[in-house]
Amino acid sequence: MLKIEKFELGPVQTNAYLLSTEDGSRGVVIDPGMNPKPLLKRIEGMQIEAILLTHAHFDHIGGVDEIRKWKGCPVYLHDAEADWLTDARKNGSARWPELGALIESEPADYALDEGMTLEVLGERLQVFHTPGHSPGSVSFLYANKYLFSGDVLFRLSVGRTDLTGGSERVLLETIHGKLFELADDVVVYPGHGGKTTIGYEREHNPYV
Ligand SMILES: [Zn+2]
Ligand SMILES: [Zn+2]
Repeated sequence: MLKIEKFELGPVQTNAYLLSTEDGSRGVVIDPGMNPKPLLKRIEGMQIEAILLTHAHFDHIGGVDEIRKWKGCPVYLHDAEADWLTDARKNGSARWPELGALIESEPADYALDEGMTLEVLGERLQVFHTPGHSPGSVSFLYANKYLFSGDVLFRLSVGRTDLTGGSERVLLETIHGKLFELADDVVVYPGHGGKTTIGYEREHNPYV
């Protein structure tokens, strides 16, 4: 069983997640955001096998280049946002200069898509394409039990749909057609805020 740790990073409290093996020797990072110092400190001495991105908004990618160069690990991102890491306008960092420097980094190494299974740290992560908040948003399901949902579904809220490629209709289709198809007890680890479960959101989320 992988260990799951959360780090709230940067000016809009973006959640980065570290999945690591029991002995702490190897890990995978999901969404290394801006000002990633606490995360960097934690992964000193840890082999990082991959950086997985739920999507390429600036607040989720600020730490990508530093970690990938330091650890020599590949970056995974959905193809619909293939040119967002390299484009400060598309990833939004050009729109909110007061929040930090422009982010323009190398493109991702591998493309994610619906139905893929990633083998990481000796475990399997299922990939769901979950657009609506952004066109290339994906969610990662680990052990049929832990869902990393990015900015698609939050505790009692959903992702905004007014940014590049966003669509409220698509977001609701994603949540009803994919995420709410999962079991009630699946734990949701979102891109912002605290964790929740699919059952709790199906019952109480006012936006769906
Ligand atoms: Zn976002
Ligand atoms: Zn975000």
